[in-house]
Order: sequence, then C-alpha cells, then structure tokens
Amino acid sequence: MIIKPKVRGFICTNAHPQGCKANVEEQIAYIKTHPPISQSSAATQPKNVLVIGCSTGYGLASRITAAFGNGAKTLGICYEQAPSEKTASAGYYNTSAFHDAATAAGLYAYTINGDAFSTAIKDKAIAQVKADMGKIDLVVYSLASPRRTDPVTGQVYYSVLKPIGAEHTSKNLNTDKLKINELTLQPATEEEIANTVKVMGGEDWELWMEALQAADVLADGAKTVAYTYLGDKLTWPIYGQATIGKAKEDLDRAAEALNAKLEAINGRANVAVLKALVTQASSAIPLMPLYLSILFKIMKAEGTNEHCIEQIQRLFSECLYTDVPRIDSANRYRVDEKELNADVQSQVEQIWADVTEENLLELTDYKAYTSDFLKLFGFGIEGIDYEADISPMVTTLF
Ligand code: NAD
Repeated sequence: MIIKPKVRGFICTNAHPQGCKANVEEQIAYIKTHPPISQSSAATQPKNVLVIGCSTGYGLASRITAAFGNGAKTLGICYEQAPSEKTASAGYYNTSAFHDAATAAGLYAYTINGDAFSTAIKDKAIAQVKADMGKIDLVVYSLASPRRTDPVTGQVYYSVLKPIGAEHTSKNLNTDKLKINELTLQPATEEEIANTVKVMGGEDWELWMEALQAADVLADGAKTVAYTYLGDKLTWPIYGQATIGKAKEDLDRAAEALNAKLEAINGRANVAVLKALVTQASSAIPLMPLYLSILFKIMKAEGTNEHCIEQIQRLFSECLYTDVPRIDSANRYRVDEKELNADVQSQVEQIWADVTEENLLELTDYKAYTSDFLKLFGFGIEGIDYEADISPMVTTLF
C-alpha cells in the first residue's frame, strides 16, 4: 500500500514503518555520539532497565538512552496496535525498529504489549525479569493515557484536560484549519479531578514498584523516575494548575511514599520535570500546539531547543547518573530549565499576545510544530519514498 498521513485533529490514524524506523535510528545515532554516562562511574550505570511506556515520546528515548548509551538490557511495556490490513501504530513500528537495532548490536530487549495498569501485565513483566534479566536497577515510568481500568474493581476512569475552579478562555490554534480562535474551557468537577488523578497520578507507579519490590526483582540501589511537566504562566491554567497538574502533583506524593519503601534496598524514587515538546500525548492538550509553535521559534533562534532524546540524554547524565544531580527543593530532577528561562518565557508571552491568523507563520515556527507532529508517525522524513507501494508488515513482531 501507499502510506500517506491520515490526520484527524490532533491525531494521525496511520503510520509509516520506514519513517518510524528512521526516527528510531536517528535517536540511536544521537545517543551513540552523546553517551549519557561517564564511563568512570561504572558502579552506578544502568544495566537492567524497565521502561513502562517504552514505544513513543519520552519513554522510547529513555529506552534508547539506556540501551545504546549504556548497553543496558531493556524490558519495555507499551500498548500498541500491531499491523494488519491497516498500518500498525507508530509505537509498534518504533518498537519493532528498536528490536532490530538492539539485535544487531547484541543487546537484550524484550517488549510486552498490553495494559500496563493491569495486574496481569505486571506479573508478566516480573516473570520476564526473573527468567532473563537479573535484578532491575532503573524503572522509568513514562505512561500517558486518557483512561485507566482499576486493577481491583475493574472500573474504568477517564482523565480530562480542564481548568480547576473557574472557566478559562484563551487563544487557541485549530491545526486543521489554521485558524486562531478563542477557546473557553469549563472548570472540572470534583469527580473529574479525582478521575484524572486516578489515571495520571502516582497510584499505578506505586503499584508497579510495590509489585517489583515484593517479587524481589529490584537491585540494591535501584532508581525509579516518573515524568512530569510544570510549565509557566501561559500553560498553568490548562496544565500546571489544571486537572493534569493535580494528577502530576500526586506523583510527588507517590515519590515520597516510594522513597520510604525503597529505603530497605537503598533505592530512590524521583519525579523528573521535562520540557514541553510534540508527542502524541501533548498534541492532544488544548493551547499546546500554539504554545509549542511559539516556543520552537524562540528556542531554535537561541539554539536551545531539544527533542526527547536530548532531554533524556541530559536527564541521565545530569540527574540520574551523576554525583551532583540537577534537583529542586521538591526532590524533582529538572531538565526543563531552558524552556522556563525567564527571558524565553517573556518572549513567548509577547508573541502569544501579538499572534494572529495573518502573522502565524511569521511570528511562530508552526512549520516545525507540524513537521515534528508528522514525524511522530514516520512522515515527512528525508530519504523515505512516500510514493512507494510497501507492506505495512514488519519482520520483528512482539
Ligand atoms: P506518548 O504518548 O508519546 O507515550 C505514551 C506511552 O505510554 C506509549 O509508549 C504508550 O504505548 C504507553 N501507554 C499508554 N497507555 C498504556 C497502557 N494502558 N499500557 C501500556 N502502555 C501504555 O507520551 P509522552 O509525551 O512521551 O509522555 C510520557 C510522560 O512524559 C507522561 O507522563 C507525560 O506527562 C510526561 N511529559 C510529557 C511532556 C510532553 O511535552 N510531551 C513534557 C513533560 C512530561
């Protein structure tokens, strides 16, 4: 079949296998030339790594960094669509390409495709670790999901992206029509806030760590990290101080609870604050496409823009595997400082005030936003023949 992007709003419903492979290979090439961990600190290097949410975005970059930056064995958990008469999801193609590259490099990699929130997948992961890996020394929690089935009650919870307390009206970019309009979001109910915390808060991270610890598959000194976004004034009403922000606050609570439990094995749990960038999860958040288009314009001009792999390379080298980590007073690793730089934020605010439909392409880097978005699904990549009639199948299935 000839595979061209099918974009519907903030999602692309298909993916290109060769384009996804090229994306993975590009990240691997980056990490090989930017090893994240000093070879002198051999004792603290990641060797056996579990990545929950391993197939796209920050989780994929974490898996690549551990494997190709440090030769770690990796076990990945994701929830992706296999190829059929339709294309697979991008995360499926990414993971297949990751496996091909890992095999070629002689690196152990195993992926479990299923619902990470379930007890069955946690049990499967533990069995795999026991059978193949030795004890886990790093657990990366990088799930982004709009829903979660409670493993005990079977009840399904849905997250919402809404402000808290009062409605919020803001400029918004409609990426289908390239129109800038005013968007008013109604405040979340108490139930919606609680449901969002249930889906994207720290409970499942804790359940994973408790299950791993109880099964005695965590190494002495094991680390775990869960990812968050804080942002600044412009994004606070819809992120930091909104429903998703509440859920992310719950990660701080979970980190503290986990630290008490992990003390027995000298383990550590930290939340890591990462920069805003285009992923399948972030493109679904209102305001984000416009915010990111402006941010890219400024950060690219300053030469400070980073993608997932650069962020995670710094998270490993400047936070996780160094004696002097970049850490804030709330015990969170920070690699979002270039985005939150006061001068960058004030430039973003100025452009946000000035931007209109007419000057969108001049004041923002909307082009970079769209090309990053299409790239997530393997489209718009140099060297790929998008007119070629290809199979949606891949040789490595998982
Ligand atoms: P993403 O959509 O690219 O990745 C989500 C991953 O979760 C995928 O591997 C997917 O397969 C997996 N997943 C989703 N539901 C699952 C389930 N039920 N079972 C198993 N796997 C499941 O998202 P991302 O943007 O990389 O986000 C990862 C984390 O980073 C999130 O916690 C997010 O809040 C955080 N973060 C994102 C940004 C950003 O700008 N994108 C910034 C800072 C922090």
